[in-house]
This record gives sequence, structure tokens and C-alpha cells, in this order.
Amino acid sequence: MTDPKPPVPLFDLKRQWLEVNDDVHAAVERVFATQQFILGPEVAALESECAAYLGVKRAVAVSSGTDALLAALMTLGVEAGDEVITSPFTFFATAGVIHRLGARPVFADIGPRDFNLDPGKLAATVTPRTKAIIPVHLYGQAADMAAIKAAAPGIPLVEDCAQAIGTSYNGVRVGGIGAFGCFSFFPTKNLGAFGDAGLVTTNDEAAGEKLLDMRMHGMRPKYVHHFVGGNFRMDALQAAILRVKLPRLPGWIAKRQAGAAHYRELFHAAGLDGTVGVPEELPGRGHTYHQYVVRAPRRDQLREHMAKQGVGAEVYYPISLHEQKCFVDLGYRTGDFPESERAEAEVLALPIFPELRADERERVVASIAEFYR
Ligand SMILES: *Cc1c(COP(=O)(O)O)cnc(C)c1O
Repeated sequence: MTDPKPPVPLFDLKRQWLEVNDDVHAAVERVFATQQFILGPEVAALESECAAYLGVKRAVAVSSGTDALLAALMTLGVEAGDEVITSPFTFFATAGVIHRLGARPVFADIGPRDFNLDPGKLAATVTPRTKAIIPVHLYGQAADMAAIKAAAPGIPLVEDCAQAIGTSYNGVRVGGIGAFGCFSFFPTKNLGAFGDAGLVTTNDEAAGEKLLDMRMHGMRPKYVHHFVGGNFRMDALQAAILRVKLPRLPGWIAKRQAGAAHYRELFHAAGLDGTVGVPEELPGRGHTYHQYVVRAPRRDQLREHMAKQGVGAEVYYPISLHEQKCFVDLGYRTGDFPESERAEAEVLALPIFPELRADERERVVASIAEFYR
């Protein structure tokens, strides 16, 4: 018997750790020496560095991507009786925060090419109660923001940028296009902390000030509460670690994009163009490849075949949100969002992290080619 080949992981943070290890140790030592663990100068420095990178006026560091969305909706005053429109094909948090505020998540189907809100389906879902829209830049690809704005004029857009830090839309970084941008630094995101962390961005100074208070129980000054906020604060340790990683992010994104270009060549060379649908790069719509997601016939069997060969792959997301048990009361049923339902049956995310080697991508595509042979 020949030795089995080493597995190709879907994702492996240990490779990045080799690169940042020394600098992260120095950064956390700096925080330990101050013994200041919540907010403080590290968090403030991260906020200004993120604002500069993203090209926004204000960046407010928070406790997670979920809390970033929650804090943004609370700052807009979303409450019981309101409706907030979003995609049914996203991570649960996008819709969960709407429900938690007593508002109603209203879904509009995604487009067939980009997995993001279809502006053509949006206008029909707007009502006098629509308080906000949450476009999701899924997988790292910018949603069609201008068309979304035009389909729902005057309604604030809260961008879910959890998978899309650094993505550009017509030359502008996402998070600076709508009323708010909400980012996640969950460890597996393109810029990951060593725990939970997130960020809210805005170009509206007054909204930025309100966000600062929202993060601290609506408090200003100490022990005077003007409204009910939350504890949405970021840890200084997370900020110090993120400051080590942020300058490396553009290089990591470039590697993801190069990996995606390589995959495209490999699929073409393997004669799979008519079989496997590779991600489309659309005009003006940047893609930073948080995930490299293909459409694959007989997806579940393909995934099993790959697993047997030690090749990682994952389904984001197997159940659209309108089909989730916790949302049955919304009254949706299977068939309501055909593109989202088609996506949940066809999508497969392949390994794409920056340190993934060319020979590993070759093995991924060889495994897929073998399945369809
Ligand atoms: C990760 C993610 C979130 C939530 O971020 P957390 O930091 O895990 O709370 C929200 N929306 C999308 C699209 C995500 O991928």
C-alpha cells in the first residue's frame, strides 16, 4: 500500500500562526504590562487604523460581528413593529439580530450569480414599516449596492461585511457605502482575533457618537444613562492582536485572490467548465474570497468523495433562513425563495486560505475531476 497523501484542510490557522507568533507575543505582553483589559488605548488605536484602512470617518470596536449588527440596528432605533429586509441565504446572525429586537425579518431572494440580495426582488418587499435593509457581502463579494439603494430609496442600509473586510465596490471599501458597516473578527474570518470581536463603521459623526454610548449601556458620562444600550465592548487583548494582523491583511487577500485565479485555471484545464460553476467576478464588484464557493451537481455525493480522499469542503449554508424552525411564525414556506433554495443544494466551499499551496489546490481539483469522470 502507498502512503495516504496528507489531508488538504478546508482551513488551517496554524500556518498563519507561524507568521504572526513573535509579533502577537510582543503585543499581548504590552497589554499584560498595562493590566488594562477592556477598551483603552489599544482599542482606540485599532479603531483609527481600521477607519483609515476602510476609508470611513468612524470605526467603533465591539464584542462580535453579531453585536456589531445589533448595535447598528439599535442605533437606528429598530424596535417591535418594524420590518428589516435581508437575504435568506446568509449566516444566521444577520436575521437573528432583527428578531431579537422584536422586529420582523423580511426576506428577499438572492440573485443567481452573486448569492447576494437581488435588487430586482427587493422593491416588492418594501412596506411603510421597513426600517432598514441588511445587504450581505456574502463570501467576500460586494453586493450590488447602487442597485439596492435605487430599489429602496431613503431606507438606511446596514452592510453585513462580516465576510468582506477589504472588499471594494466600484473603488469604495464595503462598510463605507451604507449607513453602517458591520464586521466580524471571529477567528476564521479574513481578519481574525483570538476570540470574539467585531467592528461597526459609519460616515455619520452623530451616529458614531451614539454607537460609542450604545456600546456602554447608553451611558455618558459615567452612571448617567440616556437610553438602554448593551455591553458591546472589545477586549484590549483582541485589539492588540488585530493590530498585528491588520497590516498583513492586504497581502493575505492578494493570496486568496491568486488562489481563486489558480482554481479557475485548474477547473478549465480539467475540462470542468460546463460542470462546476466557479465564482463569477462581476464588474465593479470586488471579491476577497473569504470563501471560494462553486456550484456542483450531486453536491453531497461529491463532498463525500472528497472527504474520503482527505480533501476538506463545506456547505455554507445548507438551510435557508426562511426554512429555519425558529422562523416558522414568519409564515414562509419552501418554494418562496427559489434561488436561495437552489444555492443551498448546490454550493460547496473549497479550501482558499492564504497559506494554501498550489499543489494542494491541484489535489482539490483532481479529486473533483475524478468524481465527475
Ligand atoms: C460571521 C458572521 C456574522 C457574525 O459574526 P460573529 O463575530 O460570529 O458574531 C454575521 N454575518 C455573517 C454573514 C457572518 O459570516
